[in-house]
Amino acid sequence: MPDAPAGPTSDPRPPAGPAGRHAVVTGGGRGIGAAVAAALAAAGARVTVMGRDLGALEGRARALGEERAAAVRCDVTDAAAVARAFAEARERFGPVAILVNNAGAADSAPFARSDDALFARMLEVNLMGAVRCARAALPDMTAAGWGRLVNVASTAGLKGYPYVSAYVAAKHGLVGLTRALALEHAATGVTVNAVCPGYTRTELLEDAVATIVEKTGAAPEEAERRLARSNPQGRLTEPDEVAAAVAWLCAGSSHGVTGQSIVVAGGEVM
Ligand code: NDP
Repeated sequence: MPDAPAGPTSDPRPPAGPAGRHAVVTGGGRGIGAAVAAALAAAGARVTVMGRDLGALEGRARALGEERAAAVRCDVTDAAAVARAFAEARERFGPVAILVNNAGAADSAPFARSDDALFARMLEVNLMGAVRCARAALPDMTAAGWGRLVNVASTAGLKGYPYVSAYVAAKHGLVGLTRALALEHAATGVTVNAVCPGYTRTELLEDAVATIVEKTGAAPEEAERRLARSNPQGRLTEPDEVAAAVAWLCAGSSHGVTGQSIVVAGGEVM
């Protein structure tokens, strides 16, 4: 078959990937965010890790190599702090081409005890934090005609779980934001996707295990087994597995994938 002639439907942009580009990873000091930062650095990106714990972020940046990674303090629930942090990051590594909105928290409580403050906290960190960072980064991406925005949502962004209604609502919001931004930016060279991990072995999961132990008297190993049972592979997801999905979405060859929510949960059906 002869090559199809270049026409109005072919995309003239080369499938360039993360190499040499500036990636920002929120919550990059530990857990899934740290694994994502390492995967993007391995793909050749210059990575800014953001979060509140500057010590942890600096440790992560040192581990990746100071030429290739920098730490910037940023509380994503503070709009002014987000604007300052992105300005600082841009000064070091230039315009932002990749944003991974990974910062998040999962406070649990029965709905009857989930007050407005709990809902506000979950929406602020899991949804509005991503909104603010996207607002800060997208103009760089559209100006360059290339960008990758990946939101680390959750299986809780696609289905319900008991005792975490505020978290579930916030993560569903993040999936909705992903779909809307993908369409709004479809013709700009920017893709917007979500990755939805199941229970993943991080500090956030340790907190969930501790809550089950406290509420039910189960041993920690049994509490962990209960969480792992929701995964058809019968195990917890590892941070590196989530990072691999994020890195794939950031590749040049993934340009046709946008508005999607990629589940990394061993086959857990949504
Ligand atoms: P961790 O608790 O290990 O990491 C959470 C990260 O978010 C930390 O780096 C923390 O950094 C950062 N963070 C929290 N609040 C803020 C804030 N206000 N401003 C900036 N950064 C903040 O958890 P995970 O690695 O597991 O979580 C990463 C993401 O993955 C979250 O969005 C979570 O909802 C999602 N997820 C996790 C699952 C799991 O089972 N572990 C399953 C599904 C989704 P610092 O303290 O320095 O601010």
